[in-house]
Amino acid sequence: MRIDIDRTLCEGNAVCEALAPMVFDLDDSDQARVLPEALRPDGTVNDEHRMLVERAADGCPRLAITVTG
Ligand code: SF4
Repeated sequence: MRIDIDRTLCEGNAVCEALAPMVFDLDDSDQARVLPEALRPDGTVNDEHRMLVERAADGCPRLAITVTG
């Protein structure tokens, strides 16, 4: 799956990190990012954590996370 985070919407409340800490954290700017270790070379993320990722996308109060594929 591909995960896109709209940084213009993200307010850095870390809800995504709380729901899927193996995929999301906050960067030095206090905005969400996909953990580098969760990314495959082609920029996609292993489907292993899809359920938690989708929960994080649904739980993001800013709807800043888009999951495709
Ligand atoms: S839950 Fe949404 S607004 Fe909060 S840090 Fe994650 S992407 Fe940003």
